[in-house]
Amino acid sequence: MEKKNIDWGSIGFGYIPTDYRYVANFKDGKWDEGTLTTDPNVTLNECACVFQYAQTVFEGMKAYTTEDGHIVTFRPDLNAERLANSAKRLEMPAFPEDRFVDAVVQTIKANEAYVPPYGSGATLYVRPYMFGSNPVIGVKPADEYQFRILTTPVGPYFKGGAKPITIRVTDFDRAAPHGTGHIKAGLNYAMSLHAIMDAHRQGYDENMYLDSATRTKVEETGGANFIFVTKDNTVVTPKSNSILPSITRRSLIYVAEHYLGLKVEEREVYLDEVKDFAECGLCGTAAVISPVGKIVDHGKEICFPSGMEEMGPTTKKLYETLTGIQMGRIEAPEGWIKVIE
Ligand SMILES: *Cc1c(COP(=O)(O)O)cnc(C)c1O
Repeated sequence: MEKKNIDWGSIGFGYIPTDYRYVANFKDGKWDEGTLTTDPNVTLNECACVFQYAQTVFEGMKAYTTEDGHIVTFRPDLNAERLANSAKRLEMPAFPEDRFVDAVVQTIKANEAYVPPYGSGATLYVRPYMFGSNPVIGVKPADEYQFRILTTPVGPYFKGGAKPITIRVTDFDRAAPHGTGHIKAGLNYAMSLHAIMDAHRQGYDENMYLDSATRTKVEETGGANFIFVTKDNTVVTPKSNSILPSITRRSLIYVAEHYLGLKVEEREVYLDEVKDFAECGLCGTAAVISPVGKIVDHGKEICFPSGMEEMGPTTKKLYETLTGIQMGRIEAPEGWIKVIE
């Protein structure tokens, strides 16, 4: 199969339409059989619930080529489960988890020409999402829904090495204690847009959000979970009911324990103790891990010993082991790699 003529190393993280996308519709209480389509546009009524009341949830995953030439994706069963949980919280019907995985496979296969080659650092980003599609004006959930999967090739996250970033402790809140911080919903991103633009204007790469009830505990950034490494090499990750359960973070914790033999702790992490950690990173599908070199808390700087030039040593081992597993260079735990072809 011939690949598209794309300069894989130089594309960024932007929308490049591919040939096919997947669509299924929910109507009269059931999902139709679903199909691939070439039409990238969605036509909806002006009063569709998604426009008026933001009833929409999504997922993010990647398809890529392994060292031995297979096109694969990583733990799609967990994306299926998470989308179902997100849907439930917004009173949307779940898209069946087995059908989700099947639809992801179909969509990637149809866009095989856009899956970047091994070694390019680029990937095919896969975005499943669903939304309330029929007109709603009195506040209530929609009766009809559309589930779609779009794909778009994205370039290497780190061009020329993973440089540590600088983040700030923000006064904005991301999630309330019994709110929607734990689901992957567009609404959580809409309200983060001002906070991230403000951070960028002040010269920071990201926001560290604290728990909104006490403002003493670390939650996450707008789109990635934290991992920390202590000076005696324990991997620590914040536990909270209002952070999004990152699949990357859960995978890294497993890798730390079972591949690297490290002690791991998933617990509440106080902002006060962050200065004592040796390393800090942000984890999510896009970057796997972005190293954090500096955190600024209202003018007070926390500089990690790993510095601003490279990833800390344990962060780097975690990064290399997980990306090694993903790329087929290191044997994966049972069920982690879904081979498309
Ligand atoms: C998607 C997301 C993450 C990262 O999750 P992964 O499954 O690792 O990609 C972290 N935080 C938020 C708020 C997210 O939406």
